[in-house]
Formats: sequence, C-alpha cells, structure tokens
Amino acid sequence: MSVPVFSMSEYDFKAALKKTKLAIIPVGSLEQHGNHLPVSTDSLIAEYIARTVAEKVNAFVLPVISYGVSFEHKPMFNVSLRNSTLSTMICDACVSLSENRVKEIIILNCHHGNMGALQYIAQELHGRLPKDVRVHTIHYWHLMNSEFDHAGEVETSLVLAIAPELVRMDRAMPNSKKLSKLKAAYNTNVPGSFPKITGNGVWGDPRKATVAKGEKWIKEITTGLSKTISELDLQ
Ligand SMILES: [Zn+2]
Repeated sequence: MSVPVFSMSEYDFKAALKKTKLAIIPVGSLEQHGNHLPVSTDSLIAEYIARTVAEKVNAFVLPVISYGVSFEHKPMFNVSLRNSTLSTMICDACVSLSENRVKEIIILNCHHGNMGALQYIAQELHGRLPKDVRVHTIHYWHLMNSEFDHAGEVETSLVLAIAPELVRMDRAMPNSKKLSKLKAAYNTNVPGSFPKITGNGVWGDPRKATVAKGEKWIKEITTGLSKTISELDLQ
C-alpha cells in the first residue's frame, strides 16, 4: 500500500495511520540537466522512487520538494534555496508530521547539492521531536552500483524509463570538457562551478542511455531502498 498524501482526505489519512506510521519525503531540485532532460529531472526521479518504494514498504508519500540547493549550476538555469531554507523547510515538515502521529520519516534525496543541508537535519531536529520519532536521510545513488552522473548515462536512462516523452535524445551531448574527478571532489558545490568543470553542464555521456538501463537501475534503487527501510527496525 502506498498513500500519496497529496490526494488523500482526512478520512484516508486516519484510516492509513492505523496501518503505517512511516512517511517518505522525496527531495529534488530545479536546475539545468543539459539540453535533453527537463529541469525537473531530480524531482521526477525522487517522486517516482518514493512512490514505488512506498508501495513495497507501506508508507505515506509526501509531495516532492521540487526546489533544492543548485547554485553550482550558475549561470545556467537553476532556482535555488539556501542551505538554511531547505533545512528549515524539511525540519518543519518533520515536526509537523510527528504532530500528525507519524513516527518514522525517510528523507529521500535525489540531488547532490542538497547533501550539505541534509547532513545536519538530525542536529537541527534535536529536541524538537518526541523521543519515539526518527528521521533518516538517504541519498538514492548510494543504493546503486554504478557511478552517479549529471544528465549523463544514468540520469538520462532513469528519465527514459520514467517519462520518455520528456527526453530529447536528438539533443543529448556528453560533457564538452574533459572531466577531472579531483576538481569535482572539492569544487562541485561552489556556486558556478559545474559549468566550468564540465563545459556544458553535463557530467557523463547521455548518448549511452537506454530505457532498459533505466529500468534496471530503478529496480536496483527501489529494491535497495526497500531493503534498507525494512532493516530500520520500524516501530
Ligand atoms: Zn540530476
């Protein structure tokens, strides 16, 4: 059973609460993903994974937070929140959920630039939640064996599997500069760094993307995430 919070009524909520106290908050971003993917790519992936996993583990699915911390993509398109804004938004949502008797909250992050804000969520929430409420942050690429990219083979395959009508493979181009992993390691969160490192805002080669690869990776992510959640010793 999955319970999309966006479309439920008060009646639905009360009925579902008798069966689950677990909620998933998907977190995405609004930023350029090359000329071939939509700016909502991370949010699309976040929402899809959250819904699929909620079905397996019996959870509420909150509406996706479709803005993130994306200053690194300047001057290419991005609509960004500051770390403190994203952190405050998520912490307030967690406190509010706890007042609605939700006990376990999974923050499912699908954008690299959000990691800084999410790292301190547990500290920010300390003392604000009842003792029996727990919050877990999971970055979806940690559940994959493949290397993560940006609008490259992985993300493009995922969107091909989720919403193929939004992908323009005829415009797919790999990074236009040779990638330096070292530069990426210390530089990817610096405002404006991503286009400088990649040349065109793409990390990887989207021309290698296929629907079949996307489906395989989605299965890997959703199976891994369901397993991780089931091992959390839920209340
Ligand atoms: Zn992305």
